Amino acid sequence: MSKLIRNYVNGQFIDSDKRFNNINPVDGTLVSQVCEASKNDVDQAVMAARAALAGPWGKMSVTERAGWLYRIAEGIEKRFEEFVQAEVRDTGRPVKQARTLDVPRGIANFRFFADLIKTANTECFETTAADGSLALNYTIRKPLGVVAAISPWNLPILLFSWKVAPALAMGNTVVAKPSEETPSSAALLAEVAHDIGLPPGVFNVVHGFGPNSTGQFMTTNPDIDAVTFTGESRTGSTIMKTVADGMKEVSFELGGKNAAIVFADAHFDAAVNGVVRSSFTNSGQVCLCSERVYVHRSIFDRFVAALKEKTEALKLGDPMDESTDIGPQISAEHRDKVLSYMKLAIEEGATLVTGGAAPVFGDVRDQGSWVLPTIWTGLPDHARCLREEVFGPVCHVAPFDTDEEVVARANDSDYGLATSIWTQDVTRAHNVARQMHTGIVWINTWFLRDLRTPFGGVRMSGIGREGGRHSIDFYSEITNICVKL
Ligand code: NDP
Repeated sequence: MSKLIRNYVNGQFIDSDKRFNNINPVDGTLVSQVCEASKNDVDQAVMAARAALAGPWGKMSVTERAGWLYRIAEGIEKRFEEFVQAEVRDTGRPVKQARTLDVPRGIANFRFFADLIKTANTECFETTAADGSLALNYTIRKPLGVVAAISPWNLPILLFSWKVAPALAMGNTVVAKPSEETPSSAALLAEVAHDIGLPPGVFNVVHGFGPNSTGQFMTTNPDIDAVTFTGESRTGSTIMKTVADGMKEVSFELGGKNAAIVFADAHFDAAVNGVVRSSFTNSGQVCLCSERVYVHRSIFDRFVAALKEKTEALKLGDPMDESTDIGPQISAEHRDKVLSYMKLAIEEGATLVTGGAAPVFGDVRDQGSWVLPTIWTGLPDHARCLREEVFGPVCHVAPFDTDEEVVARANDSDYGLATSIWTQDVTRAHNVARQMHTGIVWINTWFLRDLRTPFGGVRMSGIGREGGRHSIDFYSEITNICVKL
């Protein structure tokens, strides 16, 4: 019998008659049934979160609050393998990724922000008043209040904890919704919070869909104080309109159409391996993935041939097999979206280098949501496949001749999340990096994250930055106090 996932509201696991199925994208089998939170459930969660702010949680010292975060981290650690299995079953991601990236990062997020709040400082200025006396201006930090945290399916526990941990660290209370595609690790986190005795209402998890469902019930609730959202740009835009009248704070991490730029002087093998990683990690379902690759013309043919060879060597298969590189797409619906771009790319004039279709396994996996890693060349820069985020295992490789040209082409996008640059010339690397209209630039690497650094995008890729002190800034409100001495 499949597991039933319930909502976690005010310290209680709440049942609901309205349920939806959580499907394993590997073979289409049922993972769990999930209770969809009603408007009343969401309202109760927000009310409980508001009440918890007024209780001991709101008066707790930083050290005590940090203690709760450390205990959550320990709780995840104790159930490490359950979290790994939950992530793999919901998403089909390779187990080696869940064990080395997703769950360890979930734990690290709680420890990191517990550490960080102990040193989060504020400002103080000595001011001379008109009468010559002194005044002190200093700021104090307070929680924002009730934070609505809405996260996507592509890196479930990593992204969910990246909102919940700093929000709690700064003394907020949280009503959080994972994607309906990936409810399991968020549900486990609720169990961890419950088992360690986190005060009721401090952390609530509500499950369900976006429009006309849980997500919308959260963002339309007038008693939330802020929304932190990671997901598609158009969902961000909808949420922004929804919360505009209430003037709620927002932090948005949205889509990307990221460029990788490979110069002729790049370390060739490192660049090829880097682009394989940046295009196909998590089956292309990372906001940072490079779907547009620009390679200097002098090495273009050799690069495409090497990229093809490495891509075709990636192992698609059972996510529980440690040697598997590529899992399925998150759902049949998403697979169909990615396949529609594969059809469109050919219509738009692409040359298919490899992939371009769903694989045929001849076994139960044919009921799943698989797509072959795909490389195209030959598309014009205005092609939809080069302008719209596909969010699948696809990349287009185009030749370029000059630095100025490639900077202009890489920047010619509605998005602005990340760029990766491959060159051994540090001056060129910096000159190009500083011209990129993206929130993040990696040089000779990709997705190398230091949790202290700012993360986020410009243009349609987001509003604001999270990470390190930037998360502290978003998840707190500051008041300036001026005292005349
Ligand atoms: P969606 O925007 O479809 O959904 C994200 C979350 O928002 C889900 O929990 C969803 O619910 C919910 N939601 C959808 N509509 C509404 C609404 N009207 N009101 C409130 N909540 C709503 O994104 P995906 O889940 O498809 O995630 C993939 C996207 O996320 C890609 O565009 C990717 O680039 C982006 N992303 C960005 C990152 C970044 O840091 N910049 C990081 C990771 C992903 P449900 O799905 O359950 O219906």
